Amino acid sequence: MKRLLLSLLFFCTLFTAFAQQSERPALVVGLVVDQMRWDYLYRYADRYGNDGFKRLLREGFSCDNTFIPYTPTYTAPGHTCIYTGSVPSLHGIISNTWWDRSSDTTMYCTQDNSVHGIGSSSKAGKMSPRNLWASTITDELRLSTNFRNKTVAIALKDRGAILPGGHTANGAYWFDNETESWITSSFYANALPAWVSAFNKRGLPREYLSRNWNTLYPIGTYAQSGRDTAYWEGVQPGGTNFFPHRMDSLKGHTAMEAFRVSPWGNSFTLQFAQEAVRSERLGKGAFTDFLTVSLSSTDYIGHAFGPNSIEIEDTYLRLDREIAAFLKFLDAQVGKGKYLLFLTADHGAAHTPAYANSQRLPAGRISDYALMDSLNAALNRDFGVTRAVRSLINYQVYLNEEKIEEAHADRAAIKHFIMNRLLRIPGVSKVIDLDNIAAAPLPPKIRDMVLNGYNQKLSGNIQYVFKPQWFDWGGVTGTTHGAPYPYDAHIPLVWFGWKQKPGRLVREVYMTDIAATLAALLRVQMPNGCIGQPIGEVVR
Ligand SMILES: [Zn+2]
Repeated sequence: MKRLLLSLLFFCTLFTAFAQQSERPALVVGLVVDQMRWDYLYRYADRYGNDGFKRLLREGFSCDNTFIPYTPTYTAPGHTCIYTGSVPSLHGIISNTWWDRSSDTTMYCTQDNSVHGIGSSSKAGKMSPRNLWASTITDELRLSTNFRNKTVAIALKDRGAILPGGHTANGAYWFDNETESWITSSFYANALPAWVSAFNKRGLPREYLSRNWNTLYPIGTYAQSGRDTAYWEGVQPGGTNFFPHRMDSLKGHTAMEAFRVSPWGNSFTLQFAQEAVRSERLGKGAFTDFLTVSLSSTDYIGHAFGPNSIEIEDTYLRLDREIAAFLKFLDAQVGKGKYLLFLTADHGAAHTPAYANSQRLPAGRISDYALMDSLNAALNRDFGVTRAVRSLINYQVYLNEEKIEEAHADRAAIKHFIMNRLLRIPGVSKVIDLDNIAAAPLPPKIRDMVLNGYNQKLSGNIQYVFKPQWFDWGGVTGTTHGAPYPYDAHIPLVWFGWKQKPGRLVREVYMTDIAATLAALLRVQMPNGCIGQPIGEVVR
């Protein structure tokens, strides 16, 4: 009798598991391509193969006008927004780094001094999602299964792994230059899983470096890009700004930095992601697992060489092949149609200003360090306050409240003075009093982006918005992102696999809609700070 009851119970459990499984995919794969502009889906399409980006677009559903609904458009808030459906105002990750008033120093988005590295004793291991105020879709899926599914989060960048994995990831892994290995922190585990240690022992980064980096096709055929030796291109760490990029003789930290700034960083990340799927048996359990992968090398390469470089063109031609192989692997390992994959980006990038200027397009750059010094000198002279600007970061000014009070200076007058000074800078088009954003003379779309990006507890007191194609960046070479404009805020979003039918959507949707759509597809609660809406055409 007892045996009968037990087997009955067994079948009931099995049935419930299958019933649930049939309404959800076996695995969700979130693929974020760091700094992928939307137009890269099409810009290099002539030489994309049939099974990579073109397969995603042919068999999947592309939301062709997906925008980031906040500014500044940086990596940490980007990854956070994708997975929380929320904005810096609500989720607390206002930038990669910000000024922390309570400790009077900078705060890095995933910095956590209460934890230590696992797999490394370097500073790179002192990381966790502790600064993230909201839950992620990965958290909500874990909660919905009473923690019977798995989340694994992977990226070379710590923030590209930690923020998507949320607070409840079973594993989050990022790359440490010192040990040349994948590591995690004591927030997640007390030891690396055996499969991670075994993968690390293979010493693959060195093997990749020994291949150097030459173009996939003869260099003269890169018709979509400018001259390889353009002076506005940065150099690879320890190397040059032109092909072939020699990396085989680099040593130590420089070698690992060069590895990151090469397409091999993407190959290595996807190789590790495949190992994770196999070893953690993702997609093989009774409940939907979640794999988050962020490809960081596209961003490192973009910053160094800019969107019009042969380096970027070559990186995307190679990534196209990597994606084809990854989809083929998922088809075989998890099963065609059994996994749901979405491809998106955390932000885009501006053209390198010198390149834009060379084509007679207005563009420029300003060093925010120099700007802070000149503001402070002027404030000292006119108001007798030393270092009245405590920090100038993320296009925001943090007032030094203590110094202003000590000097019995007129705070409102100081603020007014700074705003006037900022507005006189040629590249600045708007200056906003963050205590009164509603009064700022901004088009509604930009005003909403500023509001969504503004966090009353963490943000500065004044914000300035550059003219299009201007940004803060010290040197002459390379580029960055962070603006509210389309080159930074327009991202790819393609849904593929489980329950997805081919199609394209023209109407605007937002980065915040991604987590809301996932919640609707998976039938789980939306993340707790989510302000997005499910994209009906994707959920159907
Ligand atoms: Zn990024």
